[in-house]
Amino acid sequence: MPIVVQKYGGTSVGTPERIQQVADRVVRTREAGNDVVVVVSAMGDTTDVLFGMASELTQVPEPRELDMLLTSGERIAMSLLAIAVNARGCRAASYTGSQAGIITDTQHGKARIVEVRPGRIQESLGAGNVVILAGFQGLSTEFDITTLGRGGSDTTAVAMAAALGAEVCEIYTDVEGVFTADPRIEPAARKLDRITYEEMLELSAAGAKVLQLRSVEYARRHKVRLHVLPSYSEGDGTWVVEEDEIPMLEQALIRGVALDAEEAKVTIDDVPDRPGIAASIFKAVAAEGINVDLIVQNVSHDGRTDLSFTVPRADLPRVEAVLQGIVSDIGAERYSADDGIAKLSLVGAGMKSNPGVAADMFDALATEGINIEMISTSSIRISCVIRAEDGERAVRTVHQRFGLDEALLEGGG
Ligand code: ADP
Ligand code: ASP
Ligand code: MG
Repeated sequence: MPIVVQKYGGTSVGTPERIQQVADRVVRTREAGNDVVVVVSAMGDTTDVLFGMASELTQVPEPRELDMLLTSGERIAMSLLAIAVNARGCRAASYTGSQAGIITDTQHGKARIVEVRPGRIQESLGAGNVVILAGFQGLSTEFDITTLGRGGSDTTAVAMAAALGAEVCEIYTDVEGVFTADPRIEPAARKLDRITYEEMLELSAAGAKVLQLRSVEYARRHKVRLHVLPSYSEGDGTWVVEEDEIPMLEQALIRGVALDAEEAKVTIDDVPDRPGIAASIFKAVAAEGINVDLIVQNVSHDGRTDLSFTVPRADLPRVEAVLQGIVSDIGAERYSADDGIAKLSLVGAGMKSNPGVAADMFDALATEGINIEMISTSSIRISCVIRAEDGERAVRTVHQRFGLDEALLEGGG
């Protein structure tokens, strides 16, 4: 029997009524002659609520215990859905990440899947069950419960689809698919029928939450067919595909715009400009398991310079703890942290061969009086750090400048 993996996000299982709708879809998929594995997120904003409770107790909760707490959200959703599916006369059994053989490294809060041992899940499917899995979690090589980072249920679904050799991994969410911009920010955003892995990777890395970055990386590496769909309607969603699967006519200069409002900027002033200084700063930050995104170093004056970089806002307390320790050791003056920024990114494979794109983007921002604080580029992405309060306006301005709502086609527009 073909295996279909379906993942339902928090909003899609947010209430008992929604869980009933999901159960109906799961049973329909089963009755259509598939083996079905369902991955669920925690109901609604449960993860945020749990995190908020821990944060009331202390600013930096013990990572192991935080993972114990946060994984409980997905356990509630998985068992409720299993109850609803069983009540329809369709046998279902739910499993935690650890029961399902999702083995991770030991990085609490953002563990990486190192192996999937799907034996128990295959047995359960073989016994005729619909399998329901708690997303976002695994068991570390040290036998502790871990979480896979925010949005991690997408990665659970893709990893299980790869391990089982599933036909398709369907990601059901609260929008119609992947759009040219977050449709909650830009109502004129257009749903894409197809997007390449490469472009989706850049959009996810740029903060488009619809698919967790790691899920896209994993899907590309393991050749998992990924389909993003609405959970509340019968829309046909968005396929994530290889570049050569996009018909010429659909190939666009720019694929989309994304906003990341969850980073913070750190600046170290008056850093001695000599070899080894940047290495010692970023080694100390990396040793804490913190991902640095954009880095800008100014031109030096009198052998000294300023260095700015961005990190996930949630990691700021830990970055500050690191910097307090090293700023004087490296002979810098001081550091400052700014959590009032946002990162705006423009993504499109066609950018590779079109030099005017960056200039047009900067011009659109300038016309709106939006100041750019940092810039970074890859071959298919341009990102600008701007003030957080300008973020949504910037998305709409840039989206409009590149005619993304009008489906302008390369060469045909
Ligand atoms: P889920 O709970 O289903 O995992 P998420 O909140 O993680 O849902 O992701 C879906 C959300 O991603 C949408 O509600 C939308 O606001 C946001 N989003 C951001 N960028 C995009 C985009 N380019 N296309 C679609 N949705 C996007
Ligand atoms: N519940 C987790 C989160 O809110 C995982 C997920 O939704 O994918 O991040
Ligand atoms: Mg998500």
